[in-house]
This record gives sequence, structure tokens and C-alpha cells, in this order.
Amino acid sequence: MKKLLAFTAIAAVVAGVHAQDFPGSKTITMVVPFAAGGPTDRVARDLAEALRKPLGGATIVVDNVPGAGSSIGAAKVARATPDGYTLLLNHIGMSTIPTLVRNVPFKVETDFEYLGIVNDVPMTLISRPTMEANNYKELTAWIAAHKGKINLGNAGVGSASHLCGLLFQSATKTEMTPVPYKGTAPAITDLMGGQIDLLCDQTTNTSPQIEAKKVKAFAVTTSKRLTTPLLKDLPTLQEAGLKDFQVTIWHGLYAPKGTPPAIAKKLNEALKAALKDPEFIRKQEGLGAVVASDGRIEPEGHKKFVAAEIAKWSPIIKAAGVYAD
Ligand code: ASP
Repeated sequence: MKKLLAFTAIAAVVAGVHAQDFPGSKTITMVVPFAAGGPTDRVARDLAEALRKPLGGATIVVDNVPGAGSSIGAAKVARATPDGYTLLLNHIGMSTIPTLVRNVPFKVETDFEYLGIVNDVPMTLISRPTMEANNYKELTAWIAAHKGKINLGNAGVGSASHLCGLLFQSATKTEMTPVPYKGTAPAITDLMGGQIDLLCDQTTNTSPQIEAKKVKAFAVTTSKRLTTPLLKDLPTLQEAGLKDFQVTIWHGLYAPKGTPPAIAKKLNEALKAALKDPEFIRKQEGLGAVVASDGRIEPEGHKKFVAAEIAKWSPIIKAAGVYAD
């Protein structure tokens, strides 16, 4: 116990901040490792707003640090001063990057304080609006007829769209040309413009475009159909014949390792309050996301969940032979 208290005091001094004053008037930066306007960015901006009140009116700015499927932004936070003023909002990539990417520039298990899971988000398989196919069956025929000529967007090696696309190619035994972007915001812009053919992306990004008929939607990646009115008629990829296909994206909040425990606790408590904010829940649910309310909203539960996800995804990625080396 004594040791722990001493560590806490040292960490607070190193960080130059006293927990009781945190955050005070200093700005908190939430790093989003993807381009602005995309699904991870959407979650971060809604969360930053919801965190403001429980953090005493603090200013929280979102800093987009895109590239390398989220590795660049995550590494930046891993190396930041551990004082609670630099946070990372990242998705499932935290558990798939260690298998999908070689030479990861950070250590998921030891470089971060885990502050809690934010939400779970389904993905949708979508196409350019001019796609000749109108349902999943027709899309299968179109894919078979266009082997070697299909452009599939993603947000870089290690991203969720990359993982989903690799699993989709493996399940359909089709090779497509990957087209990487700094996030799925620029990818969906190109999809709407017809520069690429297909994209697998979170409903938090695809729902408005599906509703506006700027893209075509073919299936959801969850094991059950969604209940959102806009997406409830889309088949699951499992129903469509891709046995065991299941990808759900979750987002979590992190601070650099060594953040004083009292500050990490304040941040976790603020997160739990934000997750109960009716406005945050309304916005997220409207985009097909489910706000977390289980044991994963606690740092321990979050950390255990990420470890379980690494254990779950590693053999699936390896068996599908889809890791990028
Ligand atoms: N949805 C993206 C991904 O594929 C990331 C983003 O732009 O938020 O990982």
C-alpha cells in the first residue's frame, strides 16, 4: 500500500499536476488516429462533448493524427507526457494491429492506462452508387464477373476496414485491389464519387450516406440483423452465406502509461458519466452504435476485454492468412 501511495505521488509530481486540480483550465487533447469526419472521429467528437460537464467544463480538443491504420496516433499518445492531458480514442485496431502489422510502434498491453470502453459499432458492406448490383446476391455475381478488377477501400493496414476487407476477400475467395486512405471519411468520399468500388465501414459513417442514397448497402457484419429502421432489412454476411463472418467494432479511451492513478480514476469516472448522458446515447444510437454499459467501462474490464480480443483475433487473422507481411 505504502509503495502504491509513493508511486502515485511520484507520478503526479513527474506529470506536474495534482489530481485534485485536474483538469483545471488546461486543455485536454483527445487524439483520433484517423482522418476527421470519419467514424472514429465522430465517436471522439460526441464523447469530447459529453465529457465536458463531468470534467468541470474542461476544454477537450480532438487532434486527428491519421496514418498507418491508427499506429501513428496511438504511438504518439504512448509517448506523450502521462499527465491526463493527452488521451487516445481508438477502436478494435488496438487488438488486431499486433497480429495484422509487423513492427508495431507501441505495445498495446504495457504502453497505456485503460480508461474504459465507449461503444460497439456494427459495420456495413457498401458500394459506389453506380454499382450494377442491387442486393447481396447480385453483388456476389458482380464480384465473380469482375475478379482482378475490384477496388476495395480501407483506412490503412491494421484498420477496421482493412480487417473487414481482408476477411471478406478470404471468405469469398476473391482478391481485390486495396486502396488505402487516412481514414474512411476520405474513402467514402471516393466511393461516392465512384473512384473505388467497395468499402466495409462502421454504421457511424455509412448510415447518413446510405440514407441519402449516396452509396449502396449490401450487408451488415454482425451475427444478428440490426434493429435501426434504416438498416434492419440488410442481411448479415452469415445469412448471405459467409459462415462465421462476424466483425463488430468497439472504441476505447486510453491515457499514456504512468498517468497518475487519481487522474486516471477521474477520467474513468467522467467517462462513465458521459456514457450515461442521454444526448450522447441518442446521437450514438441514431448511428447504429450501442453505448457500453457493462464491465468493460471499468479500466480492469477494458484491459481484460482487449486481451481477450487479441486472443480471439490472432488465430482468426492467421488462419485466414490475412496478416500484412
Ligand atoms: N473506420 C475506419 C477504419 O476502417 C477508421 C476511421 O476513419 O475512423 O478503421
